[in-house]
Amino acid sequence: MSSSSGVPARRPALSVIIPVYNERKALQAFFDAALPIIEEVSRRRLDGSFEILFIDDGSADGTGDLLLERGRTDPRIKLVRFSRNFGKEAALAAGFRYCAGDIVIPMDVDLQDPPHLIDRMVEGWLDGADVVNCVRVSREHDSWSKRLTARLFYSLYNWLADPPIKPNTGDFRLLDRDVVDALNRLPEGSRFTKGLYSWVGYSSVDVTYERPPRSGGETKWSYRRLAELALDGIISASTKPLRVWSYIGALFGLIAIAYGAFVTVRTLIFGNEVAGYPSVIVAVLFMGGLNLMSLGILGEYIGRISQQVRARPLYVVRDALGVDVIDVPTPRRRRFAGKG
Ligand code: UDP
Ligand code: MG
Repeated sequence: MSSSSGVPARRPALSVIIPVYNERKALQAFFDAALPIIEEVSRRRLDGSFEILFIDDGSADGTGDLLLERGRTDPRIKLVRFSRNFGKEAALAAGFRYCAGDIVIPMDVDLQDPPHLIDRMVEGWLDGADVVNCVRVSREHDSWSKRLTARLFYSLYNWLADPPIKPNTGDFRLLDRDVVDALNRLPEGSRFTKGLYSWVGYSSVDVTYERPPRSGGETKWSYRRLAELALDGIISASTKPLRVWSYIGALFGLIAIAYGAFVTVRTLIFGNEVAGYPSVIVAVLFMGGLNLMSLGILGEYIGRISQQVRARPLYVVRDALGVDVIDVPTPRRRRFAGKG
């Protein structure tokens, strides 16, 4: 790894990666609360070196410029700026790719991931764990509908997918460099990072905490986006939703054969009195519904296959500060270096 000046940079012990999307209002509170803690933990438990790598996920409120300003005076603050909003999962992927630390902690900027936990997380790592999960013990600041849908999602996911994911554990966790390297080797197009963490494995310990409300600004996750993420997660982790249709199809085939035999025998014995219109309609509608649903699920998989075949990158980097981003076009990099 080398900085843009060409001087090889020393590798920091700790990387904190922070996806941000229109978070100008939350930045100052983050720096006030988290920076002193990160400094202190890194000095006391590690060798004192760290980087805070922000991924600006296409903010339109000046978040990126603010970070740029900060990064120019403080080389520990680094920035990768996307050309538009690509979503948090893509931002995390970029964070994992461009961070340099031996320990990596992805974290939200809104202080819902309490920075004081970093101390215990690093302690867990020093004690030998490759992953330290932060598990929420209460969701009392979430609405009941969010709690319910979260619960439903975790049970559905873990029923369908293998390996299971830990309920109530977000992206806020500590990852050893080996784990990050393993994550970086996964070529998936549609990324559900929580599923990837559990897929790569490694030894882990848990730290529990109460999730506080947002420090400022507002959540970027509508129910629609959450539902999309949930679907992405399940479909990228399991093929059971496809297989279940073979079973359902087989079951209905058997029922149809049995019923067919019954009708034939009955007609032979009692003759045909042309009845049964309601049952025919019910059967037709029911089978039609099942067919459409199974087609829909097939479509979900095919959509993702075509996405993967197109093999577009997960994100486009517009510019960067403090990291060597190879996929930024050269003129841009030069212009940027000139400005700094
Ligand atoms: N975020 C992002 N891109 C997006 C949506 C969110 O980078 O498209 C970032 C956001 O700026 C924040 C983190 O992801 O730092 C978590 O988002 P948020 O707090 O809105 O989610 P919640 O805590 O409500 O689940
Ligand atoms: Mg939040």
